[in-house]
Amino acid sequence: MENQVLKKLTGITMSAARAHSLDTKSSSQMPQPQATNSPPLQLYSLDSGEPRGALAADPPLEPTDAFLAELQRDSDALEKATPQEILKWAVDRFAPHFTMATAFGPEGMTIIHMLAEIAPETPIFNLETGYQFAETLELRETVKKRYGIEVQYKYPKTTVQEYEAANGGPVYKTDPNRCCFDRKLSVLHEAAKGWHAWASAIRRDQSPDRAKAPIVGWDRKFQLVKISPLANWTKKEVWSLITSENIPYNPLHDQGFPSVGCQPCTRAVLAGEDERAGRWSGFQKTECGLHSS
Ligand code: SF4
Repeated sequence: MENQVLKKLTGITMSAARAHSLDTKSSSQMPQPQATNSPPLQLYSLDSGEPRGALAADPPLEPTDAFLAELQRDSDALEKATPQEILKWAVDRFAPHFTMATAFGPEGMTIIHMLAEIAPETPIFNLETGYQFAETLELRETVKKRYGIEVQYKYPKTTVQEYEAANGGPVYKTDPNRCCFDRKLSVLHEAAKGWHAWASAIRRDQSPDRAKAPIVGWDRKFQLVKISPLANWTKKEVWSLITSENIPYNPLHDQGFPSVGCQPCTRAVLAGEDERAGRWSGFQKTECGLHSS
């Protein structure tokens, strides 16, 4: 139904599974980015002093030198392992203190599909900023139906209406770093408390920032173990599995949105653009800060 509505809006019919092999797309029928001024971006950080992530777990897990060395050895040993083997290792090693955050991207859906077979009881959550696309929210329902996995929403302290009223309008228009901090990062810090480890859906070939991601490492920002089972996979491998296993995916990928975030900060990419060029278009911002240290 939604596919039909979106098709009507854009007139685009190519499936994402086919389109993944095309690095560029015609943009003539796609929504164009709004011209924006580029106000200086500020950085925001938590300074509450409270224990974060695994340090707040029961029992707490601390990044001692010995533990970090152990993680390095584990990461090296898993370098040639399949994503499924890495996930199995993560579950065996860290469950029930193992979790996953997802924005329902193609990589996240791939991991959810694998976890459904390996450990469907793994808690998974999504940061519901209040600005996500309807298609993204619908995908949560599809995951529930297909896998019986109920992805938990984690909400900011305020609704969109309250937030915008308190700030004289949408903050994403003037200071997306602050908006991401208030509606994603601070929520994620809270959600990460009490876990020893989480799965990340990043691939090394996605950006220079992600190129050095270990398979297993200590997430210094959130203070817990970060496991990236798809670090060595390519976009093509992800989409091959989605196609062969009929894994559900966000229909927006069929309409020129290779990377989907919040609706106001995501546009379709133009011919020749990087796959994340449609995020925070008009700002010197490429990451919400979740995966940068
Ligand atoms: S992606 Fe945009 S709307 Fe979403 S939290 Fe960040 S700035 Fe706000």
